[in-house]
Amino acid sequence: NYFCNILMDKDSLKKIVSHSKEYGFIFPSSEIYEGLNAIYDYAHNGTLLKNNIREYWWKSMVQLNDDIVGIDSAIFMHPKTWVASGHVDAFNDPLIDNKDSKKRYRADVLIEEHIEKLNLKIQKEINKAEKRFKEKFDKKQFIETSPRVKQILSSVEDIKSKMVSAFENDDLTQVKNLIDELEIKCPISGTCNWTEVRQFNLMFKTKLGASEDSSMDLYLRPETAQGIFLNYLNVQKTSRMKIPFGIAQTGKAFRNEIVARQFIFRMREFEQMEMQFFIQPGSQSKWFDIWKKKRLDWHLNIGIDDSSFRYHDHDKLAHYADAACDIEFLFPFGFKELEGIHSRTDFDLKSHEELSGKKIQYFDPVLDKNYIPYVVETSIGLDRMFLAILTYSFKMETLDDGSTRNVMSIPKQLAPNKLAFLPLLKKDGLPEYTSKIMKDFKHKINIVYDEKDAIGRRYRRQDAIGTPYCITIDHQTLEDDTFTIRDRDSMEQKRIKIDQLKKIVEDELTLKSLLKNLNN
Ligand code: ATP
Repeated sequence: NYFCNILMDKDSLKKIVSHSKEYGFIFPSSEIYEGLNAIYDYAHNGTLLKNNIREYWWKSMVQLNDDIVGIDSAIFMHPKTWVASGHVDAFNDPLIDNKDSKKRYRADVLIEEHIEKLNLKIQKEINKAEKRFKEKFDKKQFIETSPRVKQILSSVEDIKSKMVSAFENDDLTQVKNLIDELEIKCPISGTCNWTEVRQFNLMFKTKLGASEDSSMDLYLRPETAQGIFLNYLNVQKTSRMKIPFGIAQTGKAFRNEIVARQFIFRMREFEQMEMQFFIQPGSQSKWFDIWKKKRLDWHLNIGIDDSSFRYHDHDKLAHYADAACDIEFLFPFGFKELEGIHSRTDFDLKSHEELSGKKIQYFDPVLDKNYIPYVVETSIGLDRMFLAILTYSFKMETLDDGSTRNVMSIPKQLAPNKLAFLPLLKKDGLPEYTSKIMKDFKHKINIVYDEKDAIGRRYRRQDAIGTPYCITIDHQTLEDDTFTIRDRDSMEQKRIKIDQLKKIVEDELTLKSLLKNLNN
């Protein structure tokens, strides 16, 4: 069923992309110059939503946990950082060029796209059968019994296992052989005239310093974590933290992804929210399990159904890890990594100690000895979280009267604007009354004012940007100080007074109301 869901949802990413632009969430960057591939700018509503997600993460880490402190380290770091971390040697993707079109591709993505084509063939078979059998059609049974579908599914499995084995063995010749065997063609030239597969380092290079001779080669950081490791000693001492404790940071990271597609899922400039938790060696498996659970709870706390998430434990581990798990989310293109939880051992601190020659040890008064702490990290892309929320929230509804509406059911506490104030008419003192009551809310939450167009159109505009409640001020308001509150999701309306509205804001719309349900 999951398999069918993905295929049926293929169009929804396109709709999310155009809705995001039309309603001021996300713009393609440098659009007047034809744009920059995989770089995006956040518009007004997008910035508000992004800030809210970041704040929810930051407060749940730093404000709710006495044993986690924050930092904000620089993007530029000494180039030796990336030698010690292993990024100079190992932060690579497999690259392949088509000799005729001169276009460059990621070898693993070419194979994945081939698999996707096979999946589409299955979808076609399903569509044909659905037409033929009409109401009697049982999709699950069809997938399990149709010989054609079974045959395609088995080739998909075969390709996947060959691909995994090639990458696990770092065998690029095997990867190339698979591309040849599948006769994968370049979409531009239409030929199979490929180069060998080779590794491509994803870090962006730049220079520090004004003169050619004295300037130094630098990298834009590909992850924020190293800023935490380099500051470990300073933070531990100045914050007087005892192990176990964590350091949290949010900030930009840069990766020269070979193929960056799927909107803000894979960008070249993106934002990470990372927390490194420093622990006693030997306790990593306990803390790994604790953080796996805590992070999933954080996601579920915003109200997204748990069927949209799943854990994916890694069999193949990165050079620094002794355990790793992704929290995957059901994006419009299937379950994909949203967040990683990694047990990084003492790999990073130890490498920095060796390369810098500076002791990075912790004296543990309980054990009465020095050691390099172990680390369990949680790492999530802010932009990916944003896309997860858009995926969950965006709906195109057909109403009882046959009309349609686009609604963003964004979790209320994270919505860009919490209330929209709408005077029914632009006269009779209604706008003046409205701006007077708005003053009571402005200092606490983001609100919007809209007096243009008929009230129905104004409701639709707010639905489309995810405003949880619309407040309509009419002539009765002037008489008895009541106004209409309309719920975004149910579209129900009722009359309330300002004190009731203040209570709704407090109980349902503040970040506090979200944070207090987290079990820290
Ligand atoms: P992927 O396998 O998707 O490339 P990754 O395993 O390289 O991701 P990590 O290095 O573990 O990712 O980074 C931690 C988090 O940062 C990811 O879970 C993801 O949310 C986010 N992230 C990584 N790369 C990108 C990117 N290019 N664009 C947006 N977010 C990203």
